[in-house]
Amino acid sequence: MIRSPYVEVALPVPLRRRFTYRVPEELRGHLEPGSRVAVQFGRRKLAGFVLAGRDEPPEGVKRILALAGCLEPEPVFPRELFDFLVAAAGYYLHPIGEVLRAAAPALPKEALSRLRKRGFLEAQEALPGRQQAGRLTLFAHRTELSSEGLRLGPSQHAALAVLDARGEASAGDLRAHVKSPQSVMRRLEAHGLITLERRRVTRDPFNLETIVRDQAPTLNARQAQAVRCVLDAAEGEGAGGFLLHGVTGSGKTEVYLHIIAALRERGVGALVMVPEIALTPQLVSRFRARFGDEVAVLHSGLRPTERDEAWRKLRSGELHIAIGARSALFAPVHDLGVVIVDEEHDSSFKQEEGFRYQGRDMALWRAHRAGAVCVLGSATPSLEAYHLAQSGKLHLLELPERATDAELPKVEVVDLARHRGGPSGHPLLTAPLHHAIEECLAADGQAILFLNRRGFAPSVRCSSCGHVQQCPACSVSLTEHRRAGVLRCHYCDFATPPGTSCVSCGGVGLERMGLGTERLEDSLAEVFAPARIARLDRDTAAGRGALAVLDRLRRHEVDILVGTQMVTKGHDIPGVTLVGVMLADQSLAFPDFRAAERTFQLLAQVAGRAGRGDSPGRVIFQTYQPQHPAVQRAAAHDYLGFYEDEIEARRELDYAPFARLVSVRVDAGDEDLARQVAERLASIALAHPASRSGQVSVLGPAPAPIARVRGRFRYRLMLRSSNRPQLRSVAASIADAIDGGLGSARASVDIDPVSML
Ligand code: ADP
Ligand code: ZN
Repeated sequence: MIRSPYVEVALPVPLRRRFTYRVPEELRGHLEPGSRVAVQFGRRKLAGFVLAGRDEPPEGVKRILALAGCLEPEPVFPRELFDFLVAAAGYYLHPIGEVLRAAAPALPKEALSRLRKRGFLEAQEALPGRQQAGRLTLFAHRTELSSEGLRLGPSQHAALAVLDARGEASAGDLRAHVKSPQSVMRRLEAHGLITLERRRVTRDPFNLETIVRDQAPTLNARQAQAVRCVLDAAEGEGAGGFLLHGVTGSGKTEVYLHIIAALRERGVGALVMVPEIALTPQLVSRFRARFGDEVAVLHSGLRPTERDEAWRKLRSGELHIAIGARSALFAPVHDLGVVIVDEEHDSSFKQEEGFRYQGRDMALWRAHRAGAVCVLGSATPSLEAYHLAQSGKLHLLELPERATDAELPKVEVVDLARHRGGPSGHPLLTAPLHHAIEECLAADGQAILFLNRRGFAPSVRCSSCGHVQQCPACSVSLTEHRRAGVLRCHYCDFATPPGTSCVSCGGVGLERMGLGTERLEDSLAEVFAPARIARLDRDTAAGRGALAVLDRLRRHEVDILVGTQMVTKGHDIPGVTLVGVMLADQSLAFPDFRAAERTFQLLAQVAGRAGRGDSPGRVIFQTYQPQHPAVQRAAAHDYLGFYEDEIEARRELDYAPFARLVSVRVDAGDEDLARQVAERLASIALAHPASRSGQVSVLGPAPAPIARVRGRFRYRLMLRSSNRPQLRSVAASIADAIDGGLGSARASVDIDPVSML
């Protein structure tokens, strides 16, 4: 309870500072860190959070305003989470007010109307909105009546089969099986086979499916040992961090489930972070199958009201397990006992805009502060995590074999320089891959083909003058998307109809350069007809698209799935016996010191999709660099070999995890301005004592690899040091300069950056 006459308040404004307000008499002793208050801020009215009490006003400030009112006296965040958010904002040099606002639920209704009465409409707008939850959906329940002797059409049969299996299904569930579910449902109702009901449901795709509870399998010896280590640590003070390194299919998920089950019996809560939740419906359903209604599934498809409801249930201890993508890190799990980060190497844990945090690092930190255990799991650990394990900062747990009898698949490396155009003549369908697909289809297997380029053709070139059509706002070429009938920029989404002639010389010979997933899909349909082809990339994954494609794959309604890195995620589909990587070199060419690591991870992960069922899997890597260590080690399923090569390279070149980096990005509509601002920030960094003494190096500024995006020119500079406090101190001096204003230029500071673009 704060009894001091002043408080420091965090406000949702892009400034890295706290604001002091006077506490009016009637609120003395009623506020706590985390209380939500209303304040006058200049001419604006804002809602903010109390950070701490203060006995004196800041020096040199003449007039201090009183708080306009208290909106929620009960701290909005549990103390553990609140302190963590404050610390995280500090670490990443991000305005605390913005971090708290993003993490908080919307104001409760009573507070909102009080706010409105006082004229705080702007503050209301600045808060996440409230909407009517859910929409009306038609649900069918199977009655006792038998369908024997009734004349039913094929769609009615199909729908009834689903209902026989599940008991209940929504129109949405049935849409995956029949064309017009609503009319099929009406006909079944007329037969008395089902009853119908309109129910308000949330849009949450993870809640539409009825949960089928499962039984925990008996763990194998390795799994049991891993679980025991973690549970032993959880007994102790200070808990500890673990790296669960287990090959694809080794039963890591089962280990997480057992750890959580045991810790739930001790009464503590769990937080599970997974990459891109829309792509891992299977993982989520396994948690729901084991823990049922105890699980709050947090994902970006939730409406604000749904998110808030989950938030408040976790906060109050009504729900104990939160599972979600990166932002689940800020879930208010009650009495946090364990944090799990599945596929910790995945780059989606890094937030690349606004509050740029690394979810995996923060998971370790939050757990540590809360005295909880933290388990990072991966088949292909990040160099950072494995290095922490090697240096004893994380306990290493290993699962070197698959949990079922399935063997790791055999990988063949095909040299694209030697094999071109197999029987079809298609440049990327080499003879080995072509024959492997034929064999796979003949044996009624399923194949996944990975190509990290969406669209039809990555660029369109005039065959007379060589002009490549560029985005008017970005320095990249436009990708042809034939289904959508446009040329599109992958950086700003600019789209234009593909003309029939060159915009530069008027020539009519336009060549499609390169190969995207759409084009590969077309070629496969032609070459392997009548095989059923589906595509999974950002264009098909929108909304429930990804769930639908993966569902069809699981039900074997798809023979070949083509896709971008979305196909490399943790899909566990027994029918998949062949995995082909069309062009393993794509990710090697990136101007990024992690290019080899990312390539190894993509290759090892996509290979791990094969042979999870009874039939052994087969994997083909096509590449122009067959001798590249990332390719060779992934083909040999040799993580440790890859790690040892790569960690040496990092040590020599002084990159993470040895030196730490801070990336400073500047952009402006005018190129000279962008460069001048970048130079000014660089000179501020260079003038800092830590740089002058050589402890921190300042690299750049230089134009970013993609020099212009959305019409703004981009410059970049890097700070590098193995002395973390000194590095932070230099970064903070740059952040201060940014807060001081840069005219029409913008700049951001990215601590421990992942993207080098
Ligand atoms: P990972 O998360 O490492 O990819 P999973 O936990 O998904 O591995 O396990 C791979 C497969 O093995 C799954 O189908 C899972 O049900 C099964 N499995 C895992 N552990 C066991 C076990 N102890 N006994 C039987 N099957 C298991
Ligand atoms: Zn663009």
